[in-house]
Amino acid sequence: MNSLADKLPHTLGELYKAMKMTMSEAGILTAELDARMILEERCDIGWSKIIAEPDYIISAEDMAVIADDLEQRLNGKPLSKIYKKREFWGLEFEVSDDVLDPRPDTETIIDIALQRFSKDADIRILDMGTGTGCLLIALLSEFPKAQGLAVDISVQALEIARRNAAMHGVDGRAEFMLSNWFSSLGDNGTFDLIISNPPYIRESVIPELEPEVRNFDPILALDGGADGLQAYKKIFSSLCAHLNPQGTALFEIGYDQREEVMRLGRESRFSVINVHPDLAGQPRVVEICCGDK
Ligand code: GLN
Repeated sequence: MNSLADKLPHTLGELYKAMKMTMSEAGILTAELDARMILEERCDIGWSKIIAEPDYIISAEDMAVIADDLEQRLNGKPLSKIYKKREFWGLEFEVSDDVLDPRPDTETIIDIALQRFSKDADIRILDMGTGTGCLLIALLSEFPKAQGLAVDISVQALEIARRNAAMHGVDGRAEFMLSNWFSSLGDNGTFDLIISNPPYIRESVIPELEPEVRNFDPILALDGGADGLQAYKKIFSSLCAHLNPQGTALFEIGYDQREEVMRLGRESRFSVINVHPDLAGQPRVVEICCGDK
């Protein structure tokens, strides 16, 4: 048996408190949420039971799994990677070691798209570096007449994205393609909306990232090269050939990349550039148009 299981209290109320405390002492900022999620996920114990039945005795079997998850979490593994799922835009997505965990900041792209197009628009969407597929799938669920193409350089990521699309019933309107940015796109026509959350972390900063990110998100989805801008440079160089002149492109950026990405955009002669903040007020999404919109 996991030795942590022997040290943890076996009544629900005390166990919950001990889980929260151990995780916050280890510097985990989401200790409370994580304690609840472990209990919910492994023992089907919800918040109301934690409150109403603090003396409930946890079985030895349940204790063993709880202790095992807690130990992994204390070693830095995010619960999303333990349970292989993560919520984005109110939808649940399968995740794996091959894909970036969807993050709430990235939902800013969905918010802006909803401001730019009417819900019944039959738009064509292109998602570059789709990972879990969360951006395209959330958009297809919001725009029921839209069609989408998602590309990724990882075969494993595309498998996950395809499964996620099927899980949310949008697979009939989504296509997934192995491609290094635009390289395999050929004559797929132009798109009304092009979106991407590309890798944008500067190489030198990667060792300083939180262990949850550094050790558990795929490097391919994080590493933006020496200046963090490599992916934008590649995407921007071919963007206008694939974007409808009336269309919009939305790209996630790092909190400190506003000026550099805007400069790159100007150098590529994009006609309109806005930068939108995320919920924390950090610059997060660059909006680009290529035509005379
Ligand atoms: N937002 C992620 C992070 O800072 C990075 C994602 C990315 O490079 N696209 O952890």
